Amino acid sequence: MNQSVPLTNLQTRDISSVLHPYTPIHRLGEIGPLVIERGEGVFVYDTQGRDYIEGMSGLWCAGLGFGDEEMIDAATEQLRTLPYYHLFGAKGTESAIELAEKLKEIAPVPMSKVFFTSSGSEANDTQVKLAWYMNNAKGRPNKKKIISRMKAYHGVTVMSASLTGLPYNHIGWDLPVDRVLHTDCPHYYRFGQDGETEQEFLNRIVGSLRDLIEREGPDTIAAMIAEPIMGAGGVIIPPAGYYPAIQALLDEHDIIFISDEVITGFGRTGNWWGSQTVNMRPTTISTAKQLTAAYAPLGAVMVPEDIYQAYVDHSKQIGTFGHGFTYGGHPLGCALGVKAIEIYQKRDIIGHVRSVAPVFEARMKKLTDHPLVGEVRHCGLVGAVELVADKATKRSFDPKKGVGAQCAKFCEENGLIQRAIVDSIAFCPPMIITEAQLNELFDRFEKALAACEAWVSKEGLR
Ligand code: PMP
Repeated sequence: MNQSVPLTNLQTRDISSVLHPYTPIHRLGEIGPLVIERGEGVFVYDTQGRDYIEGMSGLWCAGLGFGDEEMIDAATEQLRTLPYYHLFGAKGTESAIELAEKLKEIAPVPMSKVFFTSSGSEANDTQVKLAWYMNNAKGRPNKKKIISRMKAYHGVTVMSASLTGLPYNHIGWDLPVDRVLHTDCPHYYRFGQDGETEQEFLNRIVGSLRDLIEREGPDTIAAMIAEPIMGAGGVIIPPAGYYPAIQALLDEHDIIFISDEVITGFGRTGNWWGSQTVNMRPTTISTAKQLTAAYAPLGAVMVPEDIYQAYVDHSKQIGTFGHGFTYGGHPLGCALGVKAIEIYQKRDIIGHVRSVAPVFEARMKKLTDHPLVGEVRHCGLVGAVELVADKATKRSFDPKKGVGAQCAKFCEENGLIQRAIVDSIAFCPPMIITEAQLNELFDRFEKALAACEAWVSKEGLR
């Protein structure tokens, strides 16, 4: 934010009244707020009319971009017909039924039932409760621990933040709660040891998961949760062979595998599901975000028949299935979910992602020559550029210097919205982005990177 420009009325009102998520709130007036007024296609516009390419699809969610008329019509029609209803007490709505059917149709493994939530955090929270409920039903009351990974992101409710493996979500929040175990982050560039090959790294982290399971006792572990490709941890793509190796361990010990597809679902990686891209066979799935292309909040958990039967057994004993959210399966969200899936299919959005992914890849790869860039990571239309102080040794910048945040600020000044994850700059443009727009995105990013390099040198940050 340029301090020489006076704050607008909306900015002043924002600072006085809004508590901003994921913001260094002690510096709000210095860094923003950037008040967004409207969006069209892959662009958003601030209140002063400046355009930005939304290189993050908002929060990895607005896959169809902004202002899609078919989505707007579907929302309007649903609001006119039935603006709200719920699914409690054996009630149903047509939009929820239709969306559940569609999700089952496109699921990567056979699924039997869909439980709706309002968000990804609620979906993952629900996953943990369902795993506990299932094991109580199966007479295994001690099989309750959940394995997650360092740098994972699964949300911010008490349990989903506990599953998350990032310091900001734990320090100061009295988290994680017990019963949650964190295993290694599968990021070879950052966590591979000196002289270790990628295969050796893979063997070591799979071995460490095996040790963890044996040490804790397989009879105490209910589930492992994983994003096929880690998003908010820095867009981390595990080495080939990682998921099949893990899968074998989990199968051996009757531990269910929860795929958190909140970012990777609905074409983002070039397949319907990230789990298909990375060769992962989930037991259950959490989804949200592109489920409605972010036109309304909605999350979902998909479960297979055998697991569903365990809930039925348990609810028989207890009297009811005691879980549900007021807005879980909101008709607006479900109608938009149905419409989004219809659009993904009829406009062949996945085919489009595949067709522009080589441009994304080529422009990413070109960045590796830049003096600030240590690693580029990409899959489909999601990726990250990791900035380092020293390319040869992979030495990171002092995190207190905020190099990533500064780079994101330079992006903004060049009409581009990207997200800094410490010093990795994430990319997740709307899936409808054209080749020309992708090139424009990277042209803007290269300007930001040049400004960042000049700033790093001027400040002597290396
Ligand atoms: N899981 C993943 C993989 C996510 O990326 C996110 C959000 N970034 C969540 C869960 C949480 O979703 P929500 O913010 O809708 O609660």
